[in-house]
Amino acid sequence: MVEGFGDPAERGRAIFERLRSDPPPEDAPAPSEEERVDAEPVPVPPRAVTPAPSSSEITLPPIPDGELVLPEPAPAPIAEAEPAPSDEPPRSPFLRPLPRVMAVANQKGGVGKTTTAVNLGACLAELGYRVLVCDLDPQGNASTGLGLNPRNMQSSMYDVILNDVPLEDCVEPSSVRNLFVAPASLDLAGAEIELVPAFSRELRLKRAIDAAADDYDFVLIDCPPSLGLLTVNGLAAATEVVVPIQCEYYALEGLGQLLRNVALVQKNLNPRLEVSAIICVMYDARTKLSDQVVQEVRTHFGDKVCRNVVPRTVRLSEAPSFGQPIIAFDPTSRGAIAYRELAKEVSGGAPQRAR
Ligand code: ADP
Ligand code: MG
Repeated sequence: MVEGFGDPAERGRAIFERLRSDPPPEDAPAPSEEERVDAEPVPVPPRAVTPAPSSSEITLPPIPDGELVLPEPAPAPIAEAEPAPSDEPPRSPFLRPLPRVMAVANQKGGVGKTTTAVNLGACLAELGYRVLVCDLDPQGNASTGLGLNPRNMQSSMYDVILNDVPLEDCVEPSSVRNLFVAPASLDLAGAEIELVPAFSRELRLKRAIDAAADDYDFVLIDCPPSLGLLTVNGLAAATEVVVPIQCEYYALEGLGQLLRNVALVQKNLNPRLEVSAIICVMYDARTKLSDQVVQEVRTHFGDKVCRNVVPRTVRLSEAPSFGQPIIAFDPTSRGAIAYRELAKEVSGGAPQRAR
């Protein structure tokens, strides 16, 4: 059978199977010593976990042992320990050197990837960072959610990935200052198949983003809800994976597969890749289930989980139909406040770069 056709899930599995067996490509960039030292996450004291409520609990589906294991980023060389000045506030565990390229990924659909890419991006831009949201989902929800009409586009991520068009040629401004979009178009759906025979097909997005990343402080890649070649491109181009997790019953189901695939991409294509932040979204304060899911996520992933959670609010789901991020659509809403706090947390207060 010609690989690349047929069931998309099969195709995704085949791609990752081959990543498992193929040697890493020769041009997979190895991190420089300096980069590695910089990329080392800052250790923080363990977070206190509140005890679970004892009455009328819902039993969450059990996670098999070893299912949810975060891939370790490439080991950093041992750096000279500097004595920490005691009166400085502790550094955020989310602080990383700029520019940061984050793939917002979760192979499930409808879990808040696009909402997070758009609104975290907008709030980072509001903090003064230059931000690019790169729409890698053929459905183009991040593009329309930021006010772009797919019909009016000269070029899109399809041309960047398949036709070597420079990223800046398809970047459009949004209504928010400092926030830019690299839009998707429907033909991106075909890219999954058209990429199969292409030369260095896993690294096409990486090449495009590397050439443009210095123009931005943050690049957020909105990945499609699958583990096919587009997502591989997203993971290969990023240095971080940000995983939104819906506060629902099956929240953690299938996540092991994503984490294993992140580990494969890290081993074969992108040694610097790490899961840097896990964001609990669609939190409903009225249900015990939401609390239980957040607790379970914290038990599994500890300090990788953002302190701020995103509430389930109708305003967040209405904003995209007006082509606006929540901070423009309803700046004082709970959703706007949550994503603003998240942006502060995830940026770790990194100083803006001089331009
Ligand atoms: P994904 O990109 O993972 O498929 P989306 O971000 O498109 O998920 O979200 C799926 C649906 O849920 C959309 O209709 C979106 O507007 C809605 N949604 C996302 N986050 C929230 C939230 N915090 N509260 C309410 N609705 C939300
Ligand atoms: Mg989406």
